[in-house]
Amino acid sequence: STPTRTNFIRQIVQDDLARGQHARVITRFPPEPNGYLHIGHAKSIVLNFGLAEDLGGVCHLRFDDTNPGKESPEFVAAIKADVRWLGFDWGGPVRFASDYFEQLYGFALELIEKGLAYVCDLSGEETRAYRGTLTEPGRDSPYRDRSIDENRDLFRRMRAGEFPDGARTLRAKIDMAAPNINLRDPVLYRIRHGVIHHQTGSEWCLYPTYDYTHPISDALEGITHSLCTLEFEDHRPLYEWCVANVSVPCQPRQIEFSRLNLEYTVMSKRLLTQLVSERIVAGWDDPRMPTIAGLRRRGFTPGAVRGFCERIGVTKADNLVEMGVLESAIRDELDASAPRAMAVLDPLRVVLTNLPADAPAAVQARNHPKDEAMGSRAVPLGSVLFIDRSDFEETPPKGFKRLIPEGEVRLRNAYVIRCDEIIKDADGAVIELRCSVDPDTLGKNPEGRKVKGVIHWVAAETAVRAEVRLYDRLFTVPQPGAGERDFREDLNPDSLHTLSGALLEPSLAEAQPGARFQFEREGYFVVDPDSTPERPVFNRTVTLRDTWAK
Ligand code: ATP
Ligand code: MG
Ligand code: MG
Repeated sequence: STPTRTNFIRQIVQDDLARGQHARVITRFPPEPNGYLHIGHAKSIVLNFGLAEDLGGVCHLRFDDTNPGKESPEFVAAIKADVRWLGFDWGGPVRFASDYFEQLYGFALELIEKGLAYVCDLSGEETRAYRGTLTEPGRDSPYRDRSIDENRDLFRRMRAGEFPDGARTLRAKIDMAAPNINLRDPVLYRIRHGVIHHQTGSEWCLYPTYDYTHPISDALEGITHSLCTLEFEDHRPLYEWCVANVSVPCQPRQIEFSRLNLEYTVMSKRLLTQLVSERIVAGWDDPRMPTIAGLRRRGFTPGAVRGFCERIGVTKADNLVEMGVLESAIRDELDASAPRAMAVLDPLRVVLTNLPADAPAAVQARNHPKDEAMGSRAVPLGSVLFIDRSDFEETPPKGFKRLIPEGEVRLRNAYVIRCDEIIKDADGAVIELRCSVDPDTLGKNPEGRKVKGVIHWVAAETAVRAEVRLYDRLFTVPQPGAGERDFREDLNPDSLHTLSGALLEPSLAEAQPGARFQFEREGYFVVDPDSTPERPVFNRTVTLRDTWAK
């Protein structure tokens, strides 16, 4: 596992624990079940669960489900699976903000009784107009001074379903002239008829807002530190107002940190949903998606995602992380752990004209150059092979070290061969090479000359045909949709290349979905769940070297 780096939040929590402020730390991760988790959520997960894990506390998984309509059990299930896959445990029941709807309603009545909340009949548009701006104070709602009795009665009737959507809201009575707009009598409840909530069904036609629900849910669960992203900094006074004014058992401390932004992708759930619903990608788990499910299918490991999150750290500074940082996390891990294999992505036929009769039927190849413990495997040889088309050049550029007419190259783990003859089709395209082997080069260097290039290959007779999917960045610019642009204009039209005729060494035929390999000289690959015994499908996780560096 990756060493845990400290950060300013961890320092605050440790100090609070050292001062005896809390017996133990309780954090929470509060996703809204309106989409799949993405790599930005992973940052929050690693922070919240990691902190609790390391400091002997617990982290709750709580679904922030106050927005019925866009939320669904499918998303709940996917989020749970992704958190588990990352290796975290919420150590108790899964929680839902909707579990607290009855209590939240009771606290709203408490606010009414204290003269701290009122039923307001302004429309949404009017409420916005009354709210004022950054430079102008808001104006009091004409309903602000309703009596406690009238507020209580109206609020109960709102719950009973007497009023249509938008007719009334419950608002906190704070300060319409507050410099912080969030304190200008924020809406606590709105009426929503006719939506089925995935947890509470049609029990409610009244739904609490996030700003009201979140602090109280935290307090009810005894959350000690409520970690959220920077855009909630301005909401903190409202968070504190809520927990200070209702009878909750504790006052959690909200601390903000910066969101993760990653180059060449998008992370807003609205945009990710659009990619899925408009079928721009194949689904939430499309390997080009920045979702946890997409990264998993792409071949990322939980350790690589967690390592990436540790590496980017936790600060208050907004920044844009390069894709290369994410990729190097998985590359480093796979370099150490992935068995090597040979796969020819774009096959060119090679006939060995003089393969000795006593040539071995198979050569022995190590599964990892640096790790003897990973063992070795037999790779069948034969007089007809395939090499990659790009490893032969009829008119080679300067410095080309692979196969050229009358040149020599070593077949990885096997003989040195020489290209004697080029066979072309009627259009002049190269379709086959005739090569001779130097029989004295199996496991040793040729006499009297240096052969620099080494290429990979597969034997025709035993090769396994596979589909290989090569992924490129989903967008062509670091910040898709920046400015006023529609983010779809920045899509990379070539983000997926499907190679249907790749040929693999036969040991790969048995590989199960999720198995990861380095295809020598090509990159790291994972078996896709679309695979069948007849037709394995491999996804390229990442290239061998960073291709993102500018
Ligand atoms: P969106 O605005 O795309 O809907 P969200 O922040 O509303 O995203 P939630 O499901 O509410 O999505 O997020 C759950 C938790 O994950 C929140 O605490 C949120 O702060 C955190 N989170 C979401 N996106 C990021 C990100 N890019 N970086 C760090 N934390 C994030
Ligand atoms: Mg959201
Ligand atoms: Mg949210």
